[in-house]
Amino acid sequence: MEYTSTRDNARKATSAEAIVTGLAPDGGLFVPTSLPKMDFSALQGLSYTDTALQVLQQFLTDYDAAFLQKALAESYGAGFGGKVGELVRLDDSLYSLELWHGPTAAFKDYALQLMPRLLVQAKTMLNDTSETLVLVATSGDTGGAAQAGFQDVPGTKITVFYPEDGTSELQRLQMVTREGGNVGAYGVHGNFDDAQRGVKAAFVDAALAAALAAKNKKLSSANSINWGRLVPQVVYYVTSYLKLCEAKRIRYGDLIDFCVPTGNFGDIMAGWYAKGMGLPIGRLICASNKNNVLTDFLEAGHYNAKRPFHKTSSPSMDIVVSSNLERLLWHTCGSDATVRAWMADLAENDGYQVPAEQMERIRETFSAGWADEAAVYDELWQVYQEHHYLADPHTAVALRVCRETPAGDGRPVVVLSTASPYKFSRDVLRALGQPVAEDEFAAVRALEAFSGVPAPQSLATLSEKPVRFTDVIDASAIVGVPLTL
Ligand SMILES: *Cc1c(COP(=O)(O)O)cnc(C)c1O
Repeated sequence: MEYTSTRDNARKATSAEAIVTGLAPDGGLFVPTSLPKMDFSALQGLSYTDTALQVLQQFLTDYDAAFLQKALAESYGAGFGGKVGELVRLDDSLYSLELWHGPTAAFKDYALQLMPRLLVQAKTMLNDTSETLVLVATSGDTGGAAQAGFQDVPGTKITVFYPEDGTSELQRLQMVTREGGNVGAYGVHGNFDDAQRGVKAAFVDAALAAALAAKNKKLSSANSINWGRLVPQVVYYVTSYLKLCEAKRIRYGDLIDFCVPTGNFGDIMAGWYAKGMGLPIGRLICASNKNNVLTDFLEAGHYNAKRPFHKTSSPSMDIVVSSNLERLLWHTCGSDATVRAWMADLAENDGYQVPAEQMERIRETFSAGWADEAAVYDELWQVYQEHHYLADPHTAVALRVCRETPAGDGRPVVVLSTASPYKFSRDVLRALGQPVAEDEFAAVRALEAFSGVPAPQSLATLSEKPVRFTDVIDASAIVGVPLTL
């Protein structure tokens, strides 16, 4: 499988090169130049990891099978407590794909458990002996999931920077209590933008890069546009489809829809790859919160980033520029020059316009909708009344959009559930009309008592874990941290 950049089709890369490089030097994203076709019906009955092996081998053709098999077993084993790819039936046409049973109770665990292993193996394949120092600025889930993914992965160190007052208490504790000899966390005075600015400054600091190179060390970002983060997400579309076949809810070949709570467009893009490989998917429904730039884009073909940024109860979807959309644009027009022009337009004028015929092709697969905060709270309440189902605000956005955009021909819809309700206990309690405790752990216990649904072990025991990292620094001091690692 050959990869190229969305902004320069003359650039060619193997999957290992794409994963080590992350963002192409021209600013583009790595994309496969063709889509492998698979007969997924032949995979019925396989375990999650065996299915993953078959799917990933189509894309990661330069990796050997024995390595992939071991990496998959390590990534999706004990940390998921047997609930990898967990599909819950709400009714005969509505299912919830619970992607939050991993080590940090975040959907990002799927990508971030596997990606570090792919990265380290890629370095070996490319004879790169340097140590990788991963720096992550985080406003929430990514930091903890990245730490867990890189924890004890040889040849790497992971340091996360979170805004001192910008994350939930639970998310902060996940980061400052994380085990592992190669793991670190710093609080940063200020907000997420300050933390991100500090990390970006480290990445562009030539003196720092030279000093690190002298010690055979290199910075890396584990960013969500890395191909190694996208490709693991193709797998659970396949396993959920096959589970519905095995449960005789559908026959192989019947179409189903997926509804995806979307931020950076990575998760839903993985669904597009699954469909492109031949998985019988009808529609991919792109669900947004009040930051509804993608709903507007899919309607009008005009990507308009000139708009207010709303803070919502689904913070992982609070985004104005969805980077992974660039992959879809490239695949549906095939022209690096065109994509380059749009991205220049986005940088200079906060937007770009995609021609009508290309939008028609995109709309053959994608539809879109959004939910405001009142609708999200109402949905949390309704889905609990109807199905005794506890959702989190991100999942509730998707459930609401589903409710309002009935699927074609009443075919089954799988909603991707991206966060544990217990990560947002106070929002959920409020939506269910319950008293809301100020303390997050008290809220977790109250929600357990009210619903009878146990909280994930990793969250429930967090308050007992020793705090390892207590430093809080100025954003301007971030650049000094890599030399101490
Ligand atoms: C990251 C995230 C999303 C959005 O996924 P994208 O791939 O960025 O579209 C949705 N929900 C949760 C809980 C997330 O952490």
